[in-house]
Formats: sequence, structure tokens, C-alpha cells
Amino acid sequence: MPDKNPSVAILDAPETSRPGPHSPTKVGFVSLGCPKNLVDSEVMMGMLAQAGAELTRRAEDADVIVVNTCSFIASAQQESVNTILEMARHKTDGRARKLIVAGCLVERYRDEIRKNIPEVDAVVGTGELEKILAATGVASAQPTNSPFHILRSRAEGDSREAQGRFSRETWDGAIADLPNYLYDEATPRILATAPHTAYIKIAEGCDHPCSFCIIPQLRGKFRSRRFESVIAEAERLAQGGVREITLIGQDTTCYGEDFGLKDGLAQLLEKLAAIKDLRWVRFLYAYPNKITGRLLETIAGHEKICSYIDVPLQHASAATLKRMKRGGGADIFLRSIEKMRRTIPGVTLRTSFIVGFPGETEKEFEELCDFVREVEFDWMGAFGYSDQEGAKAFADRDKLDDREIERRRKRVMQIQKGISKRKKKALIGTEVDLLLEGMSEETDLLLEGRTTMHAPEIDGKVFINDVPEGLVPQVGEFYRCEITESHDYDLVAKIL
Ligand code: SF4
Repeated sequence: MPDKNPSVAILDAPETSRPGPHSPTKVGFVSLGCPKNLVDSEVMMGMLAQAGAELTRRAEDADVIVVNTCSFIASAQQESVNTILEMARHKTDGRARKLIVAGCLVERYRDEIRKNIPEVDAVVGTGELEKILAATGVASAQPTNSPFHILRSRAEGDSREAQGRFSRETWDGAIADLPNYLYDEATPRILATAPHTAYIKIAEGCDHPCSFCIIPQLRGKFRSRRFESVIAEAERLAQGGVREITLIGQDTTCYGEDFGLKDGLAQLLEKLAAIKDLRWVRFLYAYPNKITGRLLETIAGHEKICSYIDVPLQHASAATLKRMKRGGGADIFLRSIEKMRRTIPGVTLRTSFIVGFPGETEKEFEELCDFVREVEFDWMGAFGYSDQEGAKAFADRDKLDDREIERRRKRVMQIQKGISKRKKKALIGTEVDLLLEGMSEETDLLLEGRTTMHAPEIDGKVFINDVPEGLVPQVGEFYRCEITESHDYDLVAKIL
């Protein structure tokens, strides 16, 4: 599930142009939501550029604007609608001829988008990315015999499908077929991230039954990319200058199960760690009971695999987790975290929680707070429960009011703030390798970078305020640094 919704931005993609008899169609992209959606945007941009379109960073210059939407929670849906309306103005008052809406909001509200926002010319769901060519008018024909549609599935996914987990029958206009698209190494893709870092989507969809979540209906059943396809893409990216790879999927720890691979993620990480030009490899979105001993040993045994585990636990009260249809609880999680820390000394742990789930009693919430105090995560996010029509929990009766949900969210984040402050302070005086990202977004007087403790975009920052005389630091290079100061979430360091 997404960790954050970055603010709206026309993707910082390279300008591309292909000379031809006619001037190329200029396409502008806005990508919302999580990195998984960002990869979809990158794939659509790649297809468009290959077909002859020119990508532009400026909405006012675009002939066609694509908004790739997020539909994770109510606030993300609202942000998506606001962005579509904002971009629609370029069509009514500006140069744009077409407005295309893509992504999760399309899977959820396919017909309603067209009915309620007449400026929208076409919609492209998460399972039909190739349709972006025809929708934008850049190429008229759809590719035939697309190699991108995967037909395998896990037994768990099949049985959940039989139980109705993926049903979208009541959704106005939803197409009957579940999304089953997955790009591969041959799919054109234009990175929208800085040139030294890239996400690789290793799997798509989700088979889990979490009762607050409609991502399985939006993204389809879990399916993995072929092992060789991921390796081939990583090798190509590394040859092109990428030094850090972050593996993503709705659940990366199920990787390979659909083609009978045991410990597929561990095997994949081992192979990726052998790619010469890569320096850091990490994965996000682990499912708690899928973190195996082999996976932990693999992380511990390879310097290039970041000692970093992102495991969204969602709650710590066994009763709440049961209602969430996830299972587990504080005792099990504590044992599992103890094992992670024992196997990977110094491991960085990130998690996220949902507070105010229907029926969450004060006692259950306190259990969560106690758990947060006890574990002392390095990074933690908390979402207030958001009602999702189509999710099982939508029908629950004992919902908490929004103010109480927000009170609980703030309270647990306040606890984490104190923990984070202490943990960051303890890093003062230590030496770390830092990947330089560029000038600080907050002030031109500082540089900014990340360490293995910081995944792209979601974690705090490291500001650099001291550089050895004569050194001109280069973006995308690694530097040995000493941590000199700490704040609640951020660090300050000097390059040694
Ligand atoms: S694991 Fe649960 S919360 Fe995450 S995408 Fe799957 S169903 Fe949603």
C-alpha cells in the first residue's frame, strides 16, 4: 500500500523528441500516489516516446495531458480529482487537446469519471497501459498479442477469487476482467527518478484479504515478473548509470510463489547483489509472515543489500488485526522483530499502522502505543482509517468519528517522534556512506543525500553542511560522511 502521496508534479522526465514528417505530439504526465504507480507512468511514457511522442515537463506546452491517479484512501481520491480538474483547465483555456485519466481511480470509478468530468477524453486502467498509445492519439493501433499479460496465479489467489475477494460487480462501469498486466524488460520505460536511482516493480496485484483495502480489486491477483526479466532490467539500468535499485510490488515477499519459487525474493536479491555496477539494493512492502530466515540471512550476508526492512504491520492488537483479516499480534511481531535484529545487526526497520479501524477500543489502541514504545522503529507512518466502499470493513458498524481517529493518529505519531529523536541523536559521531542527491530542497546552502537507512522519498533526510576543501561533490556519487547533528527525523553530516 502507498506510504505517501507526493504532491502533484509534472514528472521530471527527460524531454524527448523524434524528428518526423509531422511535429510530434507533446505529452505531459502527472503521476500521483505510490512508487508502483510511478513505474506505471514511466512505462506509459516509455511507450509514448517509442511511438514518437515528445514528453514535456510543462503542462501548458502539452497537447495531451495524462493524470495517473491514486485511489488508495479518500484523501488520495480527492487529490486525484482535484488534479484532473486542474489539468482540465489546460484543455478549456490552453493548448491541450486531450486529457487522459489513468490508474487506480479508473479501475474504481471508470464510468463516473467520464460522466462527471466531460473534459476527460479517455480512461486507461491499471491493466491496460498499452492503451495509452491509442488514447493519446500517438499511435492508432493497439499492439497485438501483447506479451505483457500474465496468466499464472497463486492457489491462494484462486481460492480468494472463488470467495469473491476480487469482485467489482457493484462498481459502476468496472470492466469484468481483472487487471493482469505486468511490464517486462523489453517494455520501453523512461525513468522519472534521478538517474542514479530506480524502482523495479517485481510483482503486481495482491491476494491478501485485508478488510480495509481495495487494492486487490484495483490491481488484480498477485503475479510476479519472470526472474530473468527482473535481472535483465536491473543489469540494463546499472549499465545506464543507476546505482540504487528499490524493488517494489504490493507484496514483494510473495515474489515467485506463482511460479513455484521458494524464497524467490531472497534468490532475486542474491542475483541482484552480484551486478557489478549496483551499489545498493533494497525492497519495500514486506508482508509480516512472509519474512523468512533465508531472506534475513541473505540481507545480512550481502553488503550491497541494504540492511533495511519495510514491513507494514497495520496494527499490533491481535483483536484489531483479526478484524482487519490480517492475523498476527504484538507477541508474534516482537519475536519476529527480535529475529530480524539478531540476524541483521543494525537493521533499519520501517512500518506503518492504521489507527481508528472500526471497533478499535481504547485498550486496543493502547496496545498499539505500547508496542510502538517497545519496538522503537527507525521509521514509522500512521494513517487514520479511511472508509473504502468495496472494502469489507465498509459495512462494519462501530466506526470511530474522524476527530477521534485523528486524535489517535497524532498521539501515536507523537510517541514515534520522541523515539525517532532519540535514535537519530544516537547516530551522532558515527560514519556512514551517503548517496548524494543534490542541493537541499529546503535551502541552497545545504546539500542533501541518503544512507542505507533512508529509502527514496519516504524516510527523513541527511543534510550536508561541510565538505572538505577542494572537493566538488557530484550528485549520484557515494561519500563517506560523519553524522554531526540530529533533529526529530533528519540528520546533518559532513563529508570526510
Ligand atoms: S497486503 Fe493487504 S493492505 Fe497490502 S495491498 Fe494487499 S490487501 Fe491491501
